[in-house]
Amino acid sequence: MNTIRADMTKSIDPDLMVLAGSIIRSGGLVAFPTETVYGLGGNALDPEASRRIYAAKGRPSDNPLIVHIADLGSLSRIVSRIPDSALALADAFWPGPLTMILPRSSEVPSETTGGLDTVAVRMPSHPVALELIRKSGGYIAAPSANTSGRPSPTRAQHVYDDLNGRIDMIIDGGPVGIGIESTIIDLTEEVPMVLRPGFISIDMLRAVVGEVRMDPGLRADDPSFRPKAPGMKYRHYAPKASLIIVEGEENAVRARIEELAREAEENGGLAGIIATDEDASSYTHGIVRSAGTRSDEITISRTLFGILREFDDLHVSVIYSEAFDTPQLGTAIMNRLLKAAGHQVILV
Ligand code: AMP
Ligand code: MG
Repeated sequence: MNTIRADMTKSIDPDLMVLAGSIIRSGGLVAFPTETVYGLGGNALDPEASRRIYAAKGRPSDNPLIVHIADLGSLSRIVSRIPDSALALADAFWPGPLTMILPRSSEVPSETTGGLDTVAVRMPSHPVALELIRKSGGYIAAPSANTSGRPSPTRAQHVYDDLNGRIDMIIDGGPVGIGIESTIIDLTEEVPMVLRPGFISIDMLRAVVGEVRMDPGLRADDPSFRPKAPGMKYRHYAPKASLIIVEGEENAVRARIEELAREAEENGGLAGIIATDEDASSYTHGIVRSAGTRSDEITISRTLFGILREFDDLHVSVIYSEAFDTPQLGTAIMNRLLKAAGHQVILV
């Protein structure tokens, strides 16, 4: 299959957008930018399109997709009940990086929901995403546009590297703003529960709906403690080399990573180091990449997955990362980093 590349980095191309919409309406797949990561879109109401999404990604079919809508009026067709909490959260955070789990209506094929009787819904804020949803009939099922298991794509090139020849079109909207996937909140329980942390923090959610719990499975590195979001049980975001997080007091972390990178070199290997603007220049071994500055956390979330992919391309033998327990986004960033590392952490 020839994959069309549509450049919309500067502005939306109306003709290509109509073409993208017609591809999705006729059952094809289009990758597109959102404010979180790039998504791989297909018609959410077409079971065959959902099957194609799983096949293109190599994704297990029990890992449900998120349905993307462009206006609140579209919600009632795909859910069987809209709790007040959903309206309050939509009012506060939509369009934006929040996904809500709601009871599904019979209009949503079970292929899209991985066989569940609930459906994940989000209204993205990226103008290209919103326009594509409108041109496609209003309901786009989209997981992240990466090969299953690899770091999520934060640039069109990442999508191209994974899916060229496997999908109909890639819309390039430039690098994304947030860089990690949406917060997922389950509203089908008595007390809303966060199934995946993201840019919208638990405190921001509590300010709108009161009590909110964090899925206990999220914090555990014990595999018997299953997170409730089916996808969270799979290894995710993993770079090819083994990734190890070094956590503790700043100077001790730097010293240990420096020592580990030197050891890797002595053994004929090459370490990739994930540091910050504050200390990247202090390392003298390995290949060092700064994820951004601790004083502007979003630079870290925006950069992280791209660095993991770059280290794949550079064929490093091992990756050491500083921990990023930053105040607002730390929970979400560390959730992705710990999963990418398979929970390998050295405490210093
Ligand atoms: P991705 O689109 O790659 O970010 O993956 C979507 C995430 O949403 C996965 O972790 C899914 O398990 C989760 N998800 C989607 N639908 C549901 C649902 N109905 N209930 C719980 N989690 C869901
Ligand atoms: Mg994903």
